[in-house]
Amino acid sequence: MTKVPAYATRGPTEPLSPFTIERRDPRPDDVVIDVLYCGICHSDIHQARDEWNNSSYPMVPGHEIVGRVVEVGRDVTRLRPGDKVGVGCFVDSCLECGPCKRDLEQFCEEGAAFTYNGTEMDRKTPTFGGYSTRIVVRDHFVLRVPESLDPAGAAPLLCAGITTFSPLSAAKTKRGDRVAVVGLGGLGHMAVKIASSMGAEVTVLSTSRAKEADARRLGATAFELTREEGAFQRLAGRFDLVIDSVSAPHDYNAYLRTLRPLGTMVLLGIPPAPIPLDATALILGNRRLVGSNIGGVAETQAMLDYCGEHGIVSDVEVIPAQEINAAYERVLRGDVRYRFVVDVSSLAK
Ligand code: NAP
Ligand code: ZN
Repeated sequence: MTKVPAYATRGPTEPLSPFTIERRDPRPDDVVIDVLYCGICHSDIHQARDEWNNSSYPMVPGHEIVGRVVEVGRDVTRLRPGDKVGVGCFVDSCLECGPCKRDLEQFCEEGAAFTYNGTEMDRKTPTFGGYSTRIVVRDHFVLRVPESLDPAGAAPLLCAGITTFSPLSAAKTKRGDRVAVVGLGGLGHMAVKIASSMGAEVTVLSTSRAKEADARRLGATAFELTREEGAFQRLAGRFDLVIDSVSAPHDYNAYLRTLRPLGTMVLLGIPPAPIPLDATALILGNRRLVGSNIGGVAETQAMLDYCGEHGIVSDVEVIPAQEINAAYERVLRGDVRYRFVVDVSSLAK
């Protein structure tokens, strides 16, 4: 065991503060990683504050991890010390059930070991995330991060990147498709970058007028302020695909009606309370409403390789760990341009 400095919360109304965790000695199939950067996902806030009613404490959040390999177990041949690697939302699964065999480890029938606020596959040992200087992860779950990508900007690809890449690639997004991105935050800005790199005509549907110039710089060709009178009437029947990354309650029906017949709305955001659905919003136009949860290991690697080829990283504001609590408040105000990333070296000080 190695003692490792981390940042943790001890309860739903507690701020995050310094905490020491233990990382296991490497097993034969483990990779020991020194964490360089870890993104702050809105899911970290939902879970730190127990908004999904499934939190356990103390909790060390963080599932957008980029680091360097420092040591590998004797059976690991794929990676070696010095390699730039990433760890996303889960760190283990059974690898034998139907979903695991179909590269959907996040839906492992035994329950994947999520990177934090979960347990190892022994179902006893708590997992601790990337707001820490070191993590030990089973080889299969460690991603290669292209050397060409800035490590701080690449960290958010491990959650925000894969979560938006997966439904865009499932929809076979191509030149000329009309894609709406709802909510220009961490996920939303990655959806804009990735959809526009695939050739889509991207419209950002936002509650923040101040984000219009950024939306266009990120690759959108249109912007609509959804709070504005008449916005939804103007948008009716327009899009092939709506990517909804909103973290708070909002009216799904209004966004569904912006779809063309046979269009699809993908829910990515996880508001803390259920939202009513009007059947006619789906039925009039044979519209589809689907959800999408991160992506499996193989698809996450494909996304990282795609981002390497296209030079895509997140727009980040790098902060020391001491500013995590203030960053959470800014995320909650929609005041993030467009992902906070913790410089983990600040934890060692
Ligand atoms: P974020 O950076 O806070 O972005 C959310 C954006 O939603 C905000 O920037 C804001 O954009 C918009 N918004 C906030 N409140 C709103 C409201 N009341 N009505 C309409 N729009 C509102 O969060 P994130 O990290 O991108 O995460 C977004 C959500 O996805 C969270 O619920 C998170 O837990 C979830 N998530 C899901 C998955 C998955 O696998 N499905 C993975 C990661 C995260 P504007 O200012 O542009 O309106
Ligand atoms: Zn996340």
